[in-house]
Amino acid sequence: SGQVWHGRSGQDGGKAQDSGECPFGQVSGFSRRAETGMVRLFAHCNRRTLMSLHGDYDDQNIFAKIIRGEAPCYTLYEDDDVLAFLDVFPQSFGHSLVIPKKAAARNLLEIDTDSLAKVMAVVQRLTRVLVEELQPAGVQVAQFNGAPAGQTVFHIHMHVIPRFAGESLGIHASAKADPAELEQLQARLRARLAD
Ligand code: AMP
Repeated sequence: SGQVWHGRSGQDGGKAQDSGECPFGQVSGFSRRAETGMVRLFAHCNRRTLMSLHGDYDDQNIFAKIIRGEAPCYTLYEDDDVLAFLDVFPQSFGHSLVIPKKAAARNLLEIDTDSLAKVMAVVQRLTRVLVEELQPAGVQVAQFNGAPAGQTVFHIHMHVIPRFAGESLGIHASAKADPAELEQLQARLRARLAD
């Protein structure tokens, strides 16, 4: 069911996840790659940020709170192992996230292969549903490891981002979508996922 968004958890879900983050933390991983070389980027990141690839799992991260039901989300699909929901700062219409529920893994290095396989099965199913329902011209599936790579929430997640002809990608984790629009989209996608 549609859950009303309240509070500003986006703060959590955005750059506040790691106080030692990259100063480019709000810039899209994609555009960042285009605009700066990795060497220049690394020069701007402090040591703690570079360590974000290897830090401890923080169970207060926003996705852990969502899994425990302590923070709301626009759920698209859920089973015992996997949760899929709408990104509230979408980079395109239909931008969704898929996360493991049981694995306390920050990134691809840490997740066990069984959990990863379950996540990817849902990524594929959701991608098919997004294509059927929204008819995009393409779909981007992305996953970032460590702040220098663009990661802002340190619970592993797959981005599923429909791409529409002539529309460029929105800035990463920047503009919050209209709740009414998210609820409407959620209903459309949930109806297809239930088929
Ligand atoms: P990443 O930068 O790969 O770690 O991606 C984190 C994603 O989570 C971004 O696309 C954010 O827009 C998104 N995000 C942050 N907080 C929330 C939230 N509370 N609900 C849904 N999506 C969120």
